[in-house]
Amino acid sequence: MTHPHFPHAPLVLLLALLTFAATANSGFTIHSAKIAGRTYVYVADVARYYGFQAGMRGETAVLRNDQRTIEFTNNSRKAYFDGVLVTLMFAPRMHKGTLTLSHQDFRYFVDPVLRPWGIGKKPVRRIVLDVGHGGQDDGAKGTKLLEKNINLMLARRVKSMLEQYRYEVLLTRKDDSFPSLDARTKMAKAKGADLFISIHNNSATVKTVNGIETFLVTPQYGASIHKNDVEKTKVAGNANDAYNGLLAYSIHRRLISYTKANDRGVKYRRFKVLRDAHCPAVLLETGFLSNRKEEALLANEGYQNKLARAITHGIVEFHRGITVGPGE
Ligand SMILES: [Zn+2]
Repeated sequence: MTHPHFPHAPLVLLLALLTFAATANSGFTIHSAKIAGRTYVYVADVARYYGFQAGMRGETAVLRNDQRTIEFTNNSRKAYFDGVLVTLMFAPRMHKGTLTLSHQDFRYFVDPVLRPWGIGKKPVRRIVLDVGHGGQDDGAKGTKLLEKNINLMLARRVKSMLEQYRYEVLLTRKDDSFPSLDARTKMAKAKGADLFISIHNNSATVKTVNGIETFLVTPQYGASIHKNDVEKTKVAGNANDAYNGLLAYSIHRRLISYTKANDRGVKYRRFKVLRDAHCPAVLLETGFLSNRKEEALLANEGYQNKLARAITHGIVEFHRGITVGPGE
């Protein structure tokens, strides 16, 4: 497939590209500072560089242009991109009276999302959907549903939708079998996959917990969601850090907007399949089977289709972002 067809090409994204082309990279420099041994960039410079108006609302920097609103808060890892939660690797910090953002977060998330064409073109033809758990491994358990079965139902829906966009789609399992975690990423590599999307559902001991979260592998020297110290090693998945950031955001924002589910955010974590992935990869947790209401939704065909559409459109948007240059 050399010229993918986009029956639902997002017009808003196209407009954003045109606007950024006119305003981004207009000779501003993004200054950085070393704070406690880590490099941070000035949020005001980031705003100017990408053509945003920036203002402070208390401890929060609000960046706005015609298309987007981004919020960074002093001492909080929670950032919002058009209202969608992203858990940063490091909390922004005040420095000399102005807010700064870690260079890791800037380089691997903010820049790829705001300037996707800058990451570099990459073919996206073959997509591996990793169907979480299977066989003796049920995964999360609801009152009626098993995660392994929901994951497979959802993956089949995503497969048929992606095929309408002429992608070639492979599943890591087509039935109730259990390929090892190693076998899943090895299969993706052997088949020459361009993207690896791992589909899971969640459970928690507290039954009220609900919502959707999207994981990507933590870059080297970045902090994972569950800890504050940095990941010192470099793993295979880190070859695609910037792509991972754009892919995670593109899918997650649609999962949240299509379902109106509780937004648990984009999160960095070194799950094995993400660590070992040779291509851009994300792991999706599309709901909590331990929550009665969400379990009922996940069993519903209409809701599964919403999730599948969100994943499909997110992938299409990612592909378009890295393929189409500014102003094209
Ligand atoms: Zn799972």
